[in-house]
Amino acid sequence: MRITGMFLSASEVHCHHYIPSHLGGSDKFNNLRILHKEIHKLIHQTDTTTIYTLINNLGITEPMVQKINQYRKQCGLEPSI
Ligand SMILES: [Zn+2]
Repeated sequence: MRITGMFLSASEVHCHHYIPSHLGGSDKFNNLRILHKEIHKLIHQTDTTTIYTLINNLGITEPMVQKINQYRKQCGLEPSI
């Protein structure tokens, strides 16, 4: 898994479009990322309180935040969490 390095079971896995379809991203494998469902939630989250709750609950570290911000930027979301 690209962000946390945790082992994932199938039920915890989400598929994310690195470049979203509405911004021209394709469904091809090179645009898809396999993510933990909670990390996926974090990437698309816009509510600050929910963002900080998720960061605390998931034990997100600074290098992980940087990767998540890169994903958020690609989605056209405010990068800094
Ligand atoms: Zn996504």
